[in-house]
Amino acid sequence: EQNRLQRLRTMPATTQDGHSVALLANIELPQDAVAATRAGAAGVGLFRTEFLFMNRQELPGEEEQVQAYRRALEAMQGLPVTIRTIDVGADKPLDGRLGGDNLLEADGNPALGLRAIRWCLSQPEMFLTQLRAILRASVHGPVRILVPMLAHASEIDQTLALIAEAKSQCDAAGIAYDRHLQVGAMIEIPAAALALPLFLNRVDFLSIGTNDLIQYTLAIDRADNAVAHLYDPMHPAVLHLIASVIDQAKAAGVPVAVCGEMAGDASLTRLLLGMGLTEFSMHPSQLLHVKQEVLRADCRRLVPIVRRLRSLYEPAAIQAALAELQSA
Ligand code: PEP
Ligand code: MG
Repeated sequence: EQNRLQRLRTMPATTQDGHSVALLANIELPQDAVAATRAGAAGVGLFRTEFLFMNRQELPGEEEQVQAYRRALEAMQGLPVTIRTIDVGADKPLDGRLGGDNLLEADGNPALGLRAIRWCLSQPEMFLTQLRAILRASVHGPVRILVPMLAHASEIDQTLALIAEAKSQCDAAGIAYDRHLQVGAMIEIPAAALALPLFLNRVDFLSIGTNDLIQYTLAIDRADNAVAHLYDPMHPAVLHLIASVIDQAKAAGVPVAVCGEMAGDASLTRLLLGMGLTEFSMHPSQLLHVKQEVLRADCRRLVPIVRRLRSLYEPAAIQAALAELQSA
């Protein structure tokens, strides 16, 4: 089985009816890029940079970050690397008091607290350090910036302003960087999915984070075993949000990916293809399994089934449509 999958590594990920699909890797540390290239990833769709900040007593400095991003870029050998800005909090806590008083995990409700982009915007010097490090690394390969946990227009506006400021700081210091570096928004808070034009009008690409989108849509803590049985990617509300984001992004001509766990679940590949998705980012170990599904799939058969599935609400009916997709 592993050998057979390994043979798919260099094959283009194209459906039976000729749609070409980008299969990218999620990484947590630069050294994970090795597994990504081994799986034949077309790039990194999600570099979870918060892992550089976790399990330590002080924040990594600018130089250390440049080297980490550079290492990932060099390992990817010219393929694009999507660097997500720090997404700490809740399931990804910082050590001790590193986050400052406002990020104390013991208080309140960390999943709804000052986390991810909210925390970054509350620590502009820390955030500027990361943005400068990403800009400096961008001369070593194609980089895209991805911003997590957006809900408000003001959050992306402030982020874009800080990116512009980081660029002027580089300019003033005579530091080279990619001037056309793209900026994307993670769609993982239901409000962002429901008010998508706010983001379509401001960014170059979107990436749907289904892990948090499910958590916040269903009010199910993704790390709480007591409610794990209610964490359901096939809930019709979740499916509606994902399908609607893909539809709207395509209509606006804005590239859209899925980078949550759903993208790496080979039993959901046909569902996402049938929604029109052409960019998936996942753990490297899942990539060839998903590629096998892409190679076998025919969107002409999937699209009408998914269109019908989108009008269903009953779990049994949704499951039946999903089974129909598997044999289509
Ligand atoms: C997600 O929320 O789906 C996602 C990809 O980000 P993370 O799992 O790191 O929160
Ligand atoms: Mg997330």
